[in-house]
Amino acid sequence: MKRLCTALSWDIEASGQSCKAPAVRGWKVCRFHGARGGAPKGERNERYVHGERTQDAMAVRRAITELIRISREAAVSIGFDQTGD
Ligand SMILES: [Zn+2]
Repeated sequence: MKRLCTALSWDIEASGQSCKAPAVRGWKVCRFHGARGGAPKGERNERYVHGERTQDAMAVRRAITELIRISREAAVSIGFDQTGD
């Protein structure tokens, strides 16, 4: 028995057609309408690595800080030192 996607997203309603794609096993919708894409409960928690995200954010912040430092040094080197001596 093949189940079909039950998704009724805005694009389907707008076009007046139902999604005829086969549903992903264990899901009521096809993969185009959310199955697997958002990861089911539990799996998402397992995959979520808080420390990693935090490190990413810190790396971005460090990069920005470094950019500011470099641009400030560049400004100084061409005579636009706003901090003065
Ligand atoms: Zn679908």
